[in-house]
Amino acid sequence: LLADSLYIINNFARDYFQETLTNSEEGQNIGLSYFEERGFTAETIQKFQLGYCLNTRDAFVNTAIQKGYSLEYLQKTGLVTIRNEQPADNYRGRVIFPIHNQSGKVLGFGARILGKHDKAPKYINSPENEIYFKSKVLYGTYFARHAIDKLDECLLVEGYTDVISLHQAGIENVVASSGTSLTQDQLRLIRKYTNNLTILYDGDNAGVKAALRGLDMAVEEGLNVKLVLIPDKEDPDSYVQKIGAEAFREFIAQNKQDFILFKLHTSLKDVGNDTQRKSQLVNEIAETIAKIDKVEDFTKQQDYIRQCSTLLNIDETAMVQLVNRFIR
Ligand code: ATP
Ligand code: MN
Ligand code: MN
Ligand code: MN
Repeated sequence: LLADSLYIINNFARDYFQETLTNSEEGQNIGLSYFEERGFTAETIQKFQLGYCLNTRDAFVNTAIQKGYSLEYLQKTGLVTIRNEQPADNYRGRVIFPIHNQSGKVLGFGARILGKHDKAPKYINSPENEIYFKSKVLYGTYFARHAIDKLDECLLVEGYTDVISLHQAGIENVVASSGTSLTQDQLRLIRKYTNNLTILYDGDNAGVKAALRGLDMAVEEGLNVKLVLIPDKEDPDSYVQKIGAEAFREFIAQNKQDFILFKLHTSLKDVGNDTQRKSQLVNEIAETIAKIDKVEDFTKQQDYIRQCSTLLNIDETAMVQLVNRFIR
């Protein structure tokens, strides 16, 4: 079967890149030093099966073909491309992050460039194929699922290194959207383990915007959504490495805010005295509140109505009526 062949090739590549990282001179001098500079321990590198692809044209593809893997399938995984009519390694000179499904099978890879990246993209990710569907995968689920289950909360971050650094700091209930906006399938995956989602996004504007986009969908999926904004210029990885595990936990605990109230506060600032925009906002908030399942979460819905009508300075009964209009 095609799918099986792709899994087998990914396994082989995972092992090969891991081996290169730890046992080749270039791997140690370049890849391993890079991870060490980023503060990753040997144990962390091992656990996440991190690797390195030699900075040569075709060392990996030659070995793979010698072992009998088909060039056509190697191309399908994105590990190999054809350059000047010859097979070439796609991730050469990059460190490798295997991407696993919930049961630990390798679906694909993220490959990060080292040093400056003016021309080439910082990360190259596997293309979609018969086993890898970006919109259905959250990086780190395999390593996080037990902790998410046990703590009944899932932390969501943007990047691979955020997941890895938080794990190393003992915070294991964390997965990454890998920079894209959340999809329905990813939210359903989270819901298999918990109803409580806490989004830890970069404090820059892009981070906040991405977080807001996910809100309505997450509420609709029945998730309780909280948000923590990481200070500007930092991400969870850099911040936890900077302030340490204990202070980071404390920061999360103290800065966790309710998502709907966050949205309301942020939007209220933009609205100012514009009555037109204000009534538009009232409608939007009512629509969001209506998405909370009324039967399951009646108290929660009432709480939101109370808090939001106060913040918006409108009558509570009017808000109830408005919310009801949006309940299908
Ligand atoms: P690092 O700390 O190594 O710089 P990061 O995770 O902080 O990585 P961000 O720029 O915050 O990187 O991006 C978040 C995530 O978005 C990355 O982990 C990666 O999954 C994805 N990403 C970033 N840049 C690209 C790119 N050029 N192409 C594809 N995916 C990318
Ligand atoms: Mn970012
Ligand atoms: Mn980062
Ligand atoms: Mn980042």
